[in-house]
Amino acid sequence: MTGGEYTFSVRPTRKPVSAAERSALLADPGFGRVFTDHMVTIRYSEAKGWYDPRVEARKPIPMDPATAVLHYAQEIFEGLKAYRTPDGGVTLFRPDANARRFRESALRMAMAPLPEELFLGSLEELIKIDHEWVPDDPEGSLYLRPFMYANEVFLGVKPSSEYMYVLIASPVRSYFKGGAKPVSLWVSTSYTRAAPGGTGAAKCGGNYAASLAAQAEAAEHGCDQVIFLDARRMKYIEELGGMNIFFVHADGHLVTPPLSGTILPGITRDSIITLARASGREVEERPVTFDEWRTGTASGEIVEAFACGTAAVITSIGTVRYADGEFTMPNKGKGKVAASLRKTLVDIQRGRAKDRYGWVRRVL
Ligand SMILES: *Cc1c(COP(=O)(O)O)cnc(C)c1O
Repeated sequence: MTGGEYTFSVRPTRKPVSAAERSALLADPGFGRVFTDHMVTIRYSEAKGWYDPRVEARKPIPMDPATAVLHYAQEIFEGLKAYRTPDGGVTLFRPDANARRFRESALRMAMAPLPEELFLGSLEELIKIDHEWVPDDPEGSLYLRPFMYANEVFLGVKPSSEYMYVLIASPVRSYFKGGAKPVSLWVSTSYTRAAPGGTGAAKCGGNYAASLAAQAEAAEHGCDQVIFLDARRMKYIEELGGMNIFFVHADGHLVTPPLSGTILPGITRDSIITLARASGREVEERPVTFDEWRTGTASGEIVEAFACGTAAVITSIGTVRYADGEFTMPNKGKGKVAASLRKTLVDIQRGRAKDRYGWVRRVL
């Protein structure tokens, strides 16, 4: 199959999972533990550019112990979902936005940017060969995980001269174990996620590695997730470890922190802003202090808060705990606006509502 000037060589696995075993796995896949039969790989070298795009059996990747990514963490990734449509087809939601962000993450990490047509071509190829793994229950989807790492065998500190792009896929149901239950947050004042000039806006594995100690601290305080403050003043709300945040005010308008370089530009965030504005709801992108959130909730000015990202879509925030105390959002965090925006977005993603923005791309 061709992705523009590129042709993927396709070698189907000789040992696909049986239909019976696949249905058993799809009945309760959890999140990120079950994988499809195939993967896509594309290589890059300074001399050859991008070459050898292939679809083959999913299998371990042998690696020399001096491979650069193992030492200096030059690695980026993406995450998006393929959905089963009511008529049995398969669609993607805004994959061009993921392709663009993947390029931007690559540039920030001094990596070779993958041409967007190759990124999109890889998604189509994997879905074509593994389409039977796209769940057809209304809560399920096929989570696609494109990633790329420095593949040069060399211990020097410099941008790698070789990269490996890989795409794998995992059928999923709901991201958080409790389903649509509101999440509790721990406001970290011992750790930050991203500093001005740092890598906060790039989707790189290193950001997640740096967030895990904070996430562990959240768990010690009985919270589901950590929420980070800005690194400079420890005052402004930024985002969760892997989700952006919105506040709903009493008059119905939304507020979300601005993309200032330390926040990951979420595609869910951007979609919510567009949909909310289209429905006549005002959306402000402006700094929000933790103090504004706390006192605004107490006074009744802020009535809901929710987190958003591809994996969990929109999740209401319930209890917020911090070093000196805690508070809980009204109605234990069961937000009406969050639920309604979630339905609007999911209905478009799943082909149950009209897509007025050209966001949905049919692949099968
Ligand atoms: C991926 C990610 C998000 C959400 O982005 P979406 O495009 O909406 O999935 C938010 N924050 C961080 C840190 C992320 O890595």
